[in-house]
Amino acid sequence: MKKVFVPFAIACLSALTLVSCKKDVKEDAISSETLNQIQSLGFSTDGVKKVGADFLVEGDIMLSQKDLQSRPTTPTLLIASEEQYRTFNLVSASKHPVIKVALNNSSSQHDAAFSASLDETIRRYNAENLTVTFQRVTTGADITVVAFYEVSNTLGSSGFPTSTGDPYNEVRMNTYWYNTGTDATNTNYIATIMTHEIGHCIGFRHTDYMNRAYSCGGRKSNEGQSNTGVGAVLIPGTPSAADPNSFMLACIGSNVNRYFNANDKIALAYLY
Ligand SMILES: [Zn+2]
Repeated sequence: MKKVFVPFAIACLSALTLVSCKKDVKEDAISSETLNQIQSLGFSTDGVKKVGADFLVEGDIMLSQKDLQSRPTTPTLLIASEEQYRTFNLVSASKHPVIKVALNNSSSQHDAAFSASLDETIRRYNAENLTVTFQRVTTGADITVVAFYEVSNTLGSSGFPTSTGDPYNEVRMNTYWYNTGTDATNTNYIATIMTHEIGHCIGFRHTDYMNRAYSCGGRKSNEGQSNTGVGAVLIPGTPSAADPNSFMLACIGSNVNRYFNANDKIALAYLY
């Protein structure tokens, strides 16, 4: 992506983003070996944070030690010569025809809003008639949505599927940023973040990973190398114009509702 859209730049200035736009968090020292592994997987080594035994990259994606040592099994999808859907491992549709999702929310005042938003998230995915469907459960979940509170630019975080075809098992939502209402605006906004994070859980990378300034504003920041690991697959027949509203853009403004756009739907149908 080459163009910086002003509304997105403003969104970043107000710090309402999926990811940090500026480095205001003290980072633990990360070994150069680890940074090399992260880079060789095609991720940005900018602002990597150590979280327990894992690493948070590109603002909202958790990579485990096992992830660092693995190789992606699916290619980069290239849409309209511009949008990138860099996948990692995919969820096995034969192993998980139904992906079970639970809410285990520690913030009681957000319970109603998170519950309505998770239902909306599941509705959005299931409306696409994919080879995997999503189901809300209370026990035995494949993906559990949890709350945390942190004064940071992170709205939520998650990770990528395992090499054995399981979805990443947790979506973390930062209650610092969310209202508690169940009105449509708030529900759609929180559902947009949950849909994005679950997008990572089933293998989606950031649409604008080649240049996060596209949605985040600020300086141009290439999140990774497109030519490492596996190649790019151009999806034929997709529009030639860029879509500024992909659900997998790295950053977002407050109360924005990003439904799947035309290219997102093509990518979803292509992968699942
Ligand atoms: Zn993300």
